[in-house]
Amino acid sequence: MDELLRRSEKLTTVGQLAAGVAHEIRNPLTTLRGFLQLQQETRKLNERHVDLMLSELDRINLIVGEFLILAKPQATRFEVKDVRFTLGDVISLLDSQAHLCNVIFVTDFGQDDCRISCEENQLKQVFINVLKNAIEAMPQGGEIAVNVRHEDTFVRISITDQGIGIPEEKIAKLGDPFYTDKDAGTGLGIMVSQRIIQSHQGHFEIKSKVNVGTTVLISLPLYKDEPKNPIS
Ligand code: ADP
Ligand code: MG
Repeated sequence: MDELLRRSEKLTTVGQLAAGVAHEIRNPLTTLRGFLQLQQETRKLNERHVDLMLSELDRINLIVGEFLILAKPQATRFEVKDVRFTLGDVISLLDSQAHLCNVIFVTDFGQDDCRISCEENQLKQVFINVLKNAIEAMPQGGEIAVNVRHEDTFVRISITDQGIGIPEEKIAKLGDPFYTDKDAGTGLGIMVSQRIIQSHQGHFEIKSKVNVGTTVLISLPLYKDEPKNPIS
């Protein structure tokens, strides 16, 4: 009962919204900071970096915009995108941050087209949340394996780290708002990610072994082309 009370108190406050928005804005800000730091240290910012920075700024703008009109939920815009490119963009965005933490991404995106119908900014948010958790789980650095496969009617994405892992009793709590064991954590990343994947008719699953690592499995329905006009 105490637990229930504690949670409902947390959930009913305006603070929940504020924390959620702050969390979503902090990710792109961290990325922007990473690029600016790269520029300060190496002066090697190229045009692609600048493009990515602009799109991150656009995203902050979008999130703030959504927050301002939260009272009137707006329709989200779904577009057909190849999820490999969406994921690839996010990996490039996080690359400098990963590098600073001695973490490398090892990607295997296969050969198949992986088009899905999605709200791309939301999916980027999911990938950022999951990849950041993976980086944060490896304080000594390590490898993050990212695989994408086209299977049947689904795209299956797996993200595996070599981090500290999650004890079994904690796995059930993942996705509860504010469940975090980090000093600067918000405990909103997994909840937000699960909701976004659900709204895309997908599945989100976490498997983990303490001191071995964690795998996040995401599957999303492949986009089916409208049948072309039959020969007439
Ligand atoms: P936050 O990162 O702000 O703590 P999340 O919702 O992203 O919030 O994650 C909640 C908790 O789940 C984390 O605090 C951590 O304990 C655990 N967790 C999530 N991903 C991983 C991972 N890849 N490895 C180990 N623990 C993880
Ligand atoms: Mg997180």
